[in-house]
Amino acid sequence: MITPGKTIGIFGGGQLGRMTGIAARKMGYSVHIFEPAANCPAGHIADREINASYEDKEALKDFIQQIDVLTYEFENIPSATIEFAAEHRPLHPSSSVLFTCQNREREKLFLRANNIPHADFEIVTSEEELEAAVGKIGTPCVLKTADFGYDGKGQIKLSSEDKDFGKIWAQFSAPKAVLEKWVQFDLELSVICARNSKGEQCTFPVSENIHTNHILDLSIVPARISEHVTKEAETLALQIANQLDVVGLIAVEMFLTKEGKIIVNELAPRPHNSGHYSFDACVTSQFEQHVRSVCDLPLGSTELLEPNVMVNILGDAWHAGEPDWAKLLEDPKVKLHLYGKAQARPGRKMGHFCVMDKSLETALHKAQQYRNLITSTP
Ligand code: AMP
Repeated sequence: MITPGKTIGIFGGGQLGRMTGIAARKMGYSVHIFEPAANCPAGHIADREINASYEDKEALKDFIQQIDVLTYEFENIPSATIEFAAEHRPLHPSSSVLFTCQNREREKLFLRANNIPHADFEIVTSEEELEAAVGKIGTPCVLKTADFGYDGKGQIKLSSEDKDFGKIWAQFSAPKAVLEKWVQFDLELSVICARNSKGEQCTFPVSENIHTNHILDLSIVPARISEHVTKEAETLALQIANQLDVVGLIAVEMFLTKEGKIIVNELAPRPHNSGHYSFDACVTSQFEQHVRSVCDLPLGSTELLEPNVMVNILGDAWHAGEPDWAKLLEDPKVKLHLYGKAQARPGRKMGHFCVMDKSLETALHKAQQYRNLITSTP
């Protein structure tokens, strides 16, 4: 057990690391961050920030020597770095969980091997394989890079009109891809599951997620789905966490099809954007739960205190200067989180806010109103 007072190391210095760090510090842990870019969101709240390349062995040794347990806040960390770190300190979720989830091919093969519902897919490594795969899967479908894809980056949707496979493959410029059937979904859902090394597991309330331009825009909690679908979504997430032997968090993104079937889209073994609401609206946040599980402490209650809607604040909101935060905060049931990023670029996640209310409908209505307010005012 890694008890409060010890030191947690985190690979990655973004907002997920920052919020995990805040939860850890609240509990009395020290937080050390390893992140290539200086002045990172997690660095601001850390006891120590190391800015070095993930390939820098000396910097890695120095980082590892001063921590008791290690985790990460994003998946694209080189395998050699992870293996090296895991030889010296406990790493959670494990390197094998990360290996499966950091690559779409391996993730899909895991879902297939474990009979977890997923969209039909084929692995593609050439123009010829792409043509054969489209013939097999049918259109519409979506071509996704096997490595380094997120928020819709490295994805092309293909329709029946797209027949120049040579051009598509050349444009795609990745050595390997997954071609996936396009799912006609009613809703997108996610379930975050926490698991500790004793195999104790629990889920957070199911979130209903609305994306705009492939980026999460709103999370509505609890999701507006039946009890039966809720149970099924939770059961699938628990099954996945158990089968992967996760210690820490795993976020499971799902589609609810028009026929009422759940299909798993993606896995992320870390805190997740669709779980940010838990920071304000659950007895234990996803960030605290991550700390508890990687430190092998008992898990906290994930009870939802009140229905709520989380809105992502993108860099676009700065188009005419700093948004009017004071106006947003006039509603005492709004919670604002800004990540301390220096540059507001369009599409960049700069922060989020959460609107709580006894009535989910009221929270949703207010959230949409406030989103318009901060995107339209300087
Ligand atoms: P991903 O990077 O796989 O999470 O995809 C980003 C977003 O693209 C998802 O949240 C969906 O809105 C959409 N998307 C991805 N794959 C599919 C699919 N097979 N069918 C329908 N929509 C998809």
